[in-house]
This record gives sequence, structure tokens and C-alpha cells, in this order.
Amino acid sequence: MPTPWTNTLTVDGERLWSALMAMAEIGPGIAGGCNRQALTDADREGRDLFVAWARDAGCTIAIDQVGNIFARRAGRDPDAAPVLSGSHLDTQPAGGRFDGVYGVLAGLEVVRTLNDRGIDTLRPIEIACWTNEEGSRFAPAMLGSGVASGVYDMDFAYSRTDKEGATFGDELERIGYRGDTPAAPRPLAAVFEAHIEQGPILEHEGDTIGIVTGIQGAYWFDVILDGQSCHAGPTPMEMRRDPWRAAAAIITECLAIADRNAPHGRCTIGDMKVEPGSRNTVPGRLTFPIDIRHPDMARLDMMVAELKSFVAATCSLWRIDHRVEQIWRMPATTFDPGLVDMIADAATTLGYSNRPIVSGAGHDSLHTAQFAPTAMIFVPCADGLSHNEAESATQSDLAAGASVLLHAMLKAASA
Ligand SMILES: [Zn+2]
Repeated sequence: MPTPWTNTLTVDGERLWSALMAMAEIGPGIAGGCNRQALTDADREGRDLFVAWARDAGCTIAIDQVGNIFARRAGRDPDAAPVLSGSHLDTQPAGGRFDGVYGVLAGLEVVRTLNDRGIDTLRPIEIACWTNEEGSRFAPAMLGSGVASGVYDMDFAYSRTDKEGATFGDELERIGYRGDTPAAPRPLAAVFEAHIEQGPILEHEGDTIGIVTGIQGAYWFDVILDGQSCHAGPTPMEMRRDPWRAAAAIITECLAIADRNAPHGRCTIGDMKVEPGSRNTVPGRLTFPIDIRHPDMARLDMMVAELKSFVAATCSLWRIDHRVEQIWRMPATTFDPGLVDMIADAATTLGYSNRPIVSGAGHDSLHTAQFAPTAMIFVPCADGLSHNEAESATQSDLAAGASVLLHAMLKAASA
């Protein structure tokens, strides 16, 4: 049977936009965005709406033990591993209308387009809504996809608590989304995730599609520098053990390390604690975090080694005691080259300007990449803003990303 899809097939951008706007009315924010945090009543309402839409589109629904929803459109071979498009419906407390929800509803729009055209696929197609991606109510982030990918165990997920002491397990039960499908890795032929970029690069470069090649690796450190606190007046400069001498040099070097590893290197010093914290006292202790990132793990490890040896040398020069404590390590993710090519081919065939890009933020795809071929599609967002109620994207860019998703999924589902 000839395949009734062509190189120019696109999704219905207006239908996608109305679905996004309808979902945004659930758990509205106070400034035009959304507050639909994980496992709240608003989350339940958003899930119910998605499930109703997916059933109307002919999908069967499975819910796993941590509330991940899988809407499945049958393929010609029911035993073939499915091709999945997934993201999340939960938002930050002051979140936008597109972060996560775009990936879910772009997947739904793909299914609706296939239905309109009477296109069947060899492999089943699935749309996933992963539970608690944001991590703002229950830490850590990307919890649902983490359990389904074998990164976290279920009891760990169930025992997470929010600020009021409510547990993930109880709240999941309460909203009626504790399913019985095992939350565990299973055969998936391909996993795609369409997402807004959440950064400024595509908009700045005037590109419509970001072909995401991977997710940055990151380390978080706390640096603790101990000197000697003393009076700001009587103590001559050369007789002080002022931790600022070391801190100033370390911070400058930290930024220089990122610059030397441009364009992908990142170093951020997001806080500073000065003790005892008095304007006429040389501080005894400075404590600050360093967030350091690069998509190439070998390069990132080198950046970290440079930083640590600089800290040691500088502190010894200024007679400062130091500790560098590792708080977190997120390994870099490299997406599947075959899927990355499918996305690039689709974008080029459809005539959308595109560029390779590395994700600076974590996504559920970071987890699925542990057990299944995975890749992501980015579209621009206004001023690079996300995790902000003002988050915005254009109907035409969102449609373009969903059309690229459509072609990539069709390709992956055809063999
Ligand atoms: Zn997201």
C-alpha cells in the first residue's frame, strides 16, 4: 500500500494553538501564565482534558504506577516497539503556557493530523505525559520519567513531600492517577520531545527549528573559604588572611574558564554568604556556589579540574583554608544521531531555517535517553523567557515544530 504522506504535509497550526490556549485556562496564573503544579486539582483537570482529547482521537490510555499517561494510536504491527512523543503538563508556580504542554499537545496534533489524512503507521504511536517534570512541588525534577527510566525507584518517588508535608504517593492517589502499568523501562523504537527553547539563541539567530544534539552536563559545588576575621582599621593589608583575596581571583577565573570554553561553557556564581557580615570587619568565612556546565563531559571534567587546581593554588598563596564540596553532578546527554538526522531532514524538507543546538535545561528526554533512542526539537520563545508567566511563542513557530515532529515520527514509525 502506498504511503499517503508527502514531503509537504503539515499539522493544523490553528488547532494546535486552540488546544494550547484551552489547556492554559486550567490552573491559570495571575499574569497570563499558568500555575498547574504537579498532582494538584489543576493538574488532574489538565490530565482529564488531555485524556478526553486523546480518546476522541482514537487512542487507548495507559497510566503507570507514578501517574505517567501513555495515549496510544495503534500501528499495523501491534507487537512493534512504539514511537513516542512525550513531555509534561505540570508547570512552575508562576509558569508559562508552553513549557512542557507544547510537547504533549504537539504529539496530540500529530495523531490528529494522521487521523485527518487516514495515515496508518507500522509502529504504534504514543503520546506521553510525564509526571512532576518541574520539581517545584516535589523535588527532584523529572521524577515520573526518572522512575519510568529506572533512574529512581518507586518508593523514592512515593515518599517525596511538598512544603505542606503531603506525599507524592498520597497526592497521586487523591487525584486518581495512580495506575497499574509498571513504571519501568520498556522497548521504545524512538522517543521525541518538542519543547520551547527556554533560551534566546533561536530567536537571536532568526532560526525556526533547533535540532537538539544533547543536554549539557553540569556540576554544582559549594566553595567554603576560611580566613581570619579582624578589625577593618588597625590590621595592615599584608597581615590579613582575607578570604576575599582568594574569592575575587576564583570568581574571575571561573568566568574565564567558561569564556575559554565558548560557545558552550557556562559558569555561574549565583550567591555569596559573608560571615560575620559587617562593613568594618574583614570576613572570616565566605561561602558561594559554583554552577559549571558543558555538553561535552570530557571537556566539562577538564574545566572542573582547572577550577579545583586554581582554587588550591590561590588559597595557598593567600593563606586561606578551603573546601570545594560537590553538591550535584548531572552527566551530559548525547541524543541518538539517527533521530537527530531525522529531525534535521524533516526541518530542511519542510523549508524551516534550522540549526543544531544544545539544551541548557534538563528535560524528561535526559531520562528516556538512558534506555531508548531519544532526541528533541526546539522552537523559539519570545526574549528567551521561560519559567515566567510572560513566556510566549508564535503560532507559526509552534506549528513548524509540530510538523517537524510529525515527519520525524512518521519516519521512525515506518520501519
Ligand atoms: Zn519543560
